[in-house]
Amino acid sequence: MAEFDALHKLANRLQALKKQAKALGMFINDREFLECPNCVLKESLASENTLYTYRYVAIDDDTGLHFPESDEDGKSVCPECGATVKGEWL
Ligand SMILES: [Zn+2]
Repeated sequence: MAEFDALHKLANRLQALKKQAKALGMFINDREFLECPNCVLKESLASENTLYTYRYVAIDDDTGLHFPESDEDGKSVCPECGATVKGEWL
């Protein structure tokens, strides 16, 4: 089962890399962007693969707010108004 071992090692390596990327605040495309249905705060991707949020009225302005990491159901909480936000894991 040498092939399986190699694959297993690779998978572990990938997980480790994902963790590192997340620790650096990088977005790794494992879910949809979040959007608050209540106050329309939206998440988007900036250069360097980092996430930022903007308001409908000021698309270019980074609010400095961040949605907390969503749980396994894809649920998060809006940092602006506290509403429950549902995203999809890809
Ligand atoms: Zn909101």
